[in-house]
Amino acid sequence: MKKYAVFGNPIKHSMSPLIHTYFAKHSGIELTYEAILGTIGKFELEAKEFLNKGGKGFNITLPFKQEAYNLADIKSDIAKITGSVNTISIKDGLIYGDNTDGSGFIKDIKNNIGYDIRKKKVLILGAGGAAMGIIPNILYEQPSEFKIYNRTYEKAKKLCNKFLDIGKLDIVSLEDLKKNKFDIIINSTSAGISGTEFFLPKNFFENDAICYDLSYGAASNSFKNWANKNKLTFYDGLGMLLEQAADSFYIWELKRPVITDELKNILLKKL
Ligand code: NDP
Repeated sequence: MKKYAVFGNPIKHSMSPLIHTYFAKHSGIELTYEAILGTIGKFELEAKEFLNKGGKGFNITLPFKQEAYNLADIKSDIAKITGSVNTISIKDGLIYGDNTDGSGFIKDIKNNIGYDIRKKKVLILGAGGAAMGIIPNILYEQPSEFKIYNRTYEKAKKLCNKFLDIGKLDIVSLEDLKKNKFDIIINSTSAGISGTEFFLPKNFFENDAICYDLSYGAASNSFKNWANKNKLTFYDGLGMLLEQAADSFYIWELKRPVITDELKNILLKKL
């Protein structure tokens, strides 16, 4: 039986085992997929141990995505650009690192929601690992404007500089938000995990702007409440979670699983 896993810390709440087991069953593929609580400082050792014991590949979530990048012998272009890896596979005996977060986000926005980022004014809130994973893919879509606001200025600045070769990402301060009219507001902060209320100024978005939260479940309630108060259409990150998982599954099995409503409903009940 082919062995796959997800490494993270914490990992208890990961829905990846459920998603991949469902994908496998419905694709007629036999595999196992377990959640592994990685030890801080021992990721490389534990990851190699999993591979040495016959593991065919694994996903990586917080906080090991950069260590997974270092572990990979060969990196995909997008992994090189982001400097982080969420999917490890073995090809010809070598460890191959890829990142499907950005492709998963774009597939959800484009194919599921039917929204085209091209020529749109885009704002991203947050400058952590998730932002880093999706910013290049947003730049490839060629928005007319792309701005970033983050609580810690330096982290946003770092991301602007990191992707200079791909396109223009500008920092905006909270005070200057009102000088803009964004078409889409993407929340990539983890503020919702602690239920923090969103304090954002008014009138920095078009009336028909859409809000997309990378978080899902209870963690997306804060931003959803803010969007509702401002009468903006809201989408959570469940679609992205499924699409990035499907892209990982494709890397391993060369077969793209179907994302069914049944699977979405199973996940919704677990949230
Ligand atoms: P990180 O810890 O790397 O970054 C967190 C970001 O949130 C930082 O920019 C941080 O700001 C900001 N932040 C945290 N708390 C607050 C607050 N109270 N007010 C304002 N800003 C705050 O996390 P990730 O980037 O990895 O993940 C972010 C979210 O995205 C998580 O909820 C995660 O579940 C979700 N996610 C969803 C995916 C999906 O497939 N749908 C994939 C990956 C992530 P500062 O820099 O100032 O600390």
